[in-house]
Amino acid sequence: MTVRTLASLKRDETLDPGWRLEATGYDPLRETSRQSRFALSNGFMGVRGERAFARGERWITPSRTSVAGLFDTADAVNALPRLTPAPDWLQARLLLPDGPVVHRPGDVSSHHVQLDMKRGVLLTECHHGNAHEALRVREMRLVSVSRRAIGLQCIEVLVEQGGVQARLEALVAPADPALVIDREGPGLVVWRIHRSGRQLAMAIYTSLTVDGVEVAPTSAGSLGASWTWRTSPGQVVELVRMVAVRLGAPGETRFAAEALAQLKAAVRLGWAGVLDEHESAWSDRWAASGVRIDGDPAAQQALRFAAYHLNGAANPEDASVSIAARGLTGEDYAGHVFWDTEVFLLPFYCLTWPEAARALLMYRFHTLAAARDKARRLGWRGALYAWESADTGADVTPDHAVGPDRRVLDILCGTQEQHISADVAYAVWQYWTLTGDEEFMREAGAEILLETARFWVSRAGLEADGRRHIRGIIGPDEYHETIDDNAFTNVMARWNIERGVEVAGLLRRRWPDRWTALSTDLNLDDDEVDDWPGVARTVVTGLDARTGVFEQFEGYSSLESIDLTAYAGRSVPMDVVLGRERTARSQVIKQADVVALLVLLPEAFPDGADRSNFAWYEPRCSHGSSLSTAMHGLAAARLGLTDKALDYFRRTAAIDLDDSKAAIGGGIHMAALGGVWMTAVLGFAGVSFREDGIGLEPQLPDAWTTMRFPLRWRGRRLEIDIDPGEGCLHILVTSGEAMAAYVGGARYWLEPGQSLRIDIAHPATGTLASRPQAHAVDHGV
Ligand code: BGC
Ligand code: BGC
Repeated sequence: MTVRTLASLKRDETLDPGWRLEATGYDPLRETSRQSRFALSNGFMGVRGERAFARGERWITPSRTSVAGLFDTADAVNALPRLTPAPDWLQARLLLPDGPVVHRPGDVSSHHVQLDMKRGVLLTECHHGNAHEALRVREMRLVSVSRRAIGLQCIEVLVEQGGVQARLEALVAPADPALVIDREGPGLVVWRIHRSGRQLAMAIYTSLTVDGVEVAPTSAGSLGASWTWRTSPGQVVELVRMVAVRLGAPGETRFAAEALAQLKAAVRLGWAGVLDEHESAWSDRWAASGVRIDGDPAAQQALRFAAYHLNGAANPEDASVSIAARGLTGEDYAGHVFWDTEVFLLPFYCLTWPEAARALLMYRFHTLAAARDKARRLGWRGALYAWESADTGADVTPDHAVGPDRRVLDILCGTQEQHISADVAYAVWQYWTLTGDEEFMREAGAEILLETARFWVSRAGLEADGRRHIRGIIGPDEYHETIDDNAFTNVMARWNIERGVEVAGLLRRRWPDRWTALSTDLNLDDDEVDDWPGVARTVVTGLDARTGVFEQFEGYSSLESIDLTAYAGRSVPMDVVLGRERTARSQVIKQADVVALLVLLPEAFPDGADRSNFAWYEPRCSHGSSLSTAMHGLAAARLGLTDKALDYFRRTAAIDLDDSKAAIGGGIHMAALGGVWMTAVLGFAGVSFREDGIGLEPQLPDAWTTMRFPLRWRGRRLEIDIDPGEGCLHILVTSGEAMAAYVGGARYWLEPGQSLRIDIAHPATGTLASRPQAHAVDHGV
């Protein structure tokens, strides 16, 4: 076996820039953005930061570790839970006679960072030299995807010119006053979180070798150690640090021993063994979700970056947490979970990692009690999910914030932005139809669908006009508050009620015992459900039957119309340009609203009205949220507006990747990344789903000479290869049962192991005949 060194790690991938994200030098203005962009995450633990050593002469936290579920309230006044930073296990300092090795602004040669997305590792390198000494320092860090409790850091110091006394310090730094050390011993520290009483155990291993010989620390405590030695030219010094992190409930004790046992097992494997396992887990994730684009390197990198963070954000083993708007990569929105997860991320997980999708939906199942509570508190029935959700599912939306003009603003989303309940229901149904996971539907999904349907039935009030209205709401476009009959909310609500009826029928037919038990538990009798179709039919939708265009909400079309092209090039959002009040009185939209409905429920739009709705709303949208361009890109791609869609795709990718001074210091934008993947796969490749198979209507951007991607669908694994140059696509079912594919109006039958070549240049027309023999290539089963 070849010995792995940090130098070899760097070399192995340098040939393929599509897998790398790099930055050179140190720029204080870009620092926080880089910390987000180069973050590592495994769904349990996330680490932001991109430097091995602190920037200045003093200890400055260059990194931040977050642990999923580690919520606490800051203080009694600010009672909303936020994700509390975990102790930072990556602090290191190298001291030479002239002072510590630091990164100085402007000293470009001093620092290079590379995120190797293929392997999920961050590699940094810096050179330090003066009249007396010259050193090359390399660092590699990862949070293991195969053992999620484990973090690994290796620092290698190569002495080029030396002969001086050096000291290396490695410390775990408490990152937040809410964490109080409860007990500490050799290699283990347990913190108690001040208010919630939750606990965090970190088992820590560090070792330093000089030219392969282990050196005893000069000083050591439970949180760290330091080593002193004399440098000499050619010397190789290696620090290996591993941590195992576990969370414990208040009063629990076992978790600390588990952390120790997990650390012991990892130490036994050694850093190269931990890395091997981690690489192989990443390679499985890439095989299941990597999109390959030829002809457009920037799009390729954007799709890799998106899949890198999407894969890193989820943890199929933990159904007690969900994915925050910024994943585990930053402080914005306090680690809270929004509709982003269900609407923008779930499609990726359902189709590439159903186990992760299931855990995310089980989080909503486990927080159903809190959703019922919220509905009840506001005077309705059923389940109204939290607009912002943390550990318990109680609504944790702040009720005020300080606006750009320093005025205190009321935030009404926590009570008014109710479409979240239909979004969760939508995701449940989507997961069910894409995976066929019966156990989930029977034991969890059905209850969510019924309780959210019940909420909407109680929420949509019957009025004198004989119709049902949903008043006092905020739709996805948050620039307009306390509005009536938001088309997105109402049509999603109607759909949610219909799915409630459908799932009740499904349970009665397929699992009558479960129906008896559940309907008894929920006190939901047949009469109640029998009323629902009538309710669904009478919900106002805002559809103008004459034009086929939905009015975004009642009265929207008579608001002030503002020509957004006159504001092109502005550097602040439109609500800041116009002021909040005027924005609210205008047609300026924050983000896709009717356009989002078009993406989620295209069948709700009359024939041909998809285009007119898009054409009406697109010019009115100011894209004041990172979620907006993603939805527009997907909608445009499906409408065949490929150039426009590509422009939106690039804008969405640029939110996190553009190395401008636009700060993303608060974390990367998970929903936008989900949108990048969706625009490519569900948009450009035109993937859709039917009862017995998938549809493909590719319309790739001109530059994309080929596009290849895997999918999972109802127990099968598929490989799809689109080659517009050859005018064909190939589909291969690599595992699972035979299924259908619909391309260009024809139905093809896919046998497992046989790659089917289908012409897209001249798609077959006419009947949906089965064509099993069309260019079948045997790949064996
Ligand atoms: C967001 C809302 C959110 C609020 C408070 C606003 O910027 O648009 O969705 O609830 O902040 O976190
Ligand atoms: C958007 C919301 C979103 C939230 C978190 C807000 O700015 O308006 O739709 O859920 O950010 O990403």
